[in-house]
Amino acid sequence: MDELNRIAFLLERQLAPSYRVEAFRRAARALVEVDVAAVAAAGRLRSVPGVGERIESIVRDVLDGGRSEYRLRLEEEVGQQAQSPLQAALRGDLHVHTIWSDGGAEMIEMVETAIDLGHEYVAITDHSPSLKIARGLSIERLEEQFLLVEDVQRQVGDRIRILTGSETDILLDGSLDWPEDHLRRLDIVVGSVHNKLRIPPDEMTPRLVEAMQNPYLDILGHPTGRMGGKARSSYDHELVFAAAAHFGVALEINSRPERLDLQPDLVRLATSLGCNFVISTDAHAPGQMMWQGNGVAIAEEAGLDQDRILNALSADDLLAARGRP
Ligand SMILES: [Zn+2]
Ligand SMILES: [Zn+2]
Repeated sequence: MDELNRIAFLLERQLAPSYRVEAFRRAARALVEVDVAAVAAAGRLRSVPGVGERIESIVRDVLDGGRSEYRLRLEEEVGQQAQSPLQAALRGDLHVHTIWSDGGAEMIEMVETAIDLGHEYVAITDHSPSLKIARGLSIERLEEQFLLVEDVQRQVGDRIRILTGSETDILLDGSLDWPEDHLRRLDIVVGSVHNKLRIPPDEMTPRLVEAMQNPYLDILGHPTGRMGGKARSSYDHELVFAAAAHFGVALEINSRPERLDLQPDLVRLATSLGCNFVISTDAHAPGQMMWQGNGVAIAEEAGLDQDRILNALSADDLLAARGRP
């Protein structure tokens, strides 16, 4: 019974009393001596030495489908224990896509996953109109999505707070891709460069500095366009990061394995200039919301102080920290 041995192992990791651990190993040894399926079918599992009510129900779960609820819960508890203190301090994810733009799952699935991960809040940040290739929302679709957020919030109750959001394109002139009225209504505005991201530094620097001055921009998404180990946008980092610090725009540490942007050297530079940060997953599917540890590793390597990470704040403090007019 691998399942029972695994449970014993997980209990050991949790430093459970050894008699509890040994009870699972003893039952596992006894069960290998019998035809478990046949004994279970005959309703006689409890006649096997060491098998009580709990172990019987675990064995039945395994026979039904492979894994017991009890083991899954332990795996989760042990997984959380293994988190670094910084990861454990993060309270939400501020960059998440759904099927409304180029994500692969419905909003409710992303929100349920955020709940499972223990988040207190999640911002839904689908793409803006210009990014047609990623099915950026129209104004009408954004209006509809505001209603869906309310609806999903009703469904999940107070288990999590859903923030409205957008990953809006930073256009060539540095403006954002929504009218001011809509920017104002979004809880979280992530601004990212997706088009013309390789323009010369003497054009990219003023473009980004212009964006930083937009009072509704909260976060600069994947700041250097890094992909596959290489930054794709070049600009005067000092000038842009100083503008971000001055105008209260946080820099995103993007946890996607192919991005990992910013890198630690730039995190250190931005820290020295007074910037704040967020650690986001940019998840396009539920499982990707578990990538936050990648961003945490960057922050730890850079020696980033938790005080500078806005998604370690409560939702209310986070919203207050945006520096909106
Ligand atoms: Zn993006
Ligand atoms: Zn994104």
